[in-house]
Amino acid sequence: MNLGLRCGYAEECPVYAGRTEVNQMPLHLLRNVFCNRGKKGWKNCARHNLLEQGKEVRDDIHPFSEQ
Ligand code: SF4
Repeated sequence: MNLGLRCGYAEECPVYAGRTEVNQMPLHLLRNVFCNRGKKGWKNCARHNLLEQGKEVRDDIHPFSEQ
């Protein structure tokens, strides 16, 4: 995997770790669509965008959460 494409929050992310259930999507698919896809994936992730804004983000916030 190209680490340059991986979200900078992945290491601490409960979604990336598979601890947060997301619309019954398999983990590998979530990672491919959002986390390991470079900026064009991250920018579609609500969790990523809230973190970028410096907000506090609960563990149950995931890519499809309302922003
Ligand atoms: S893209 Fe979203 S779900 Fe994936 S690691 Fe980053 S913050 Fe977590």
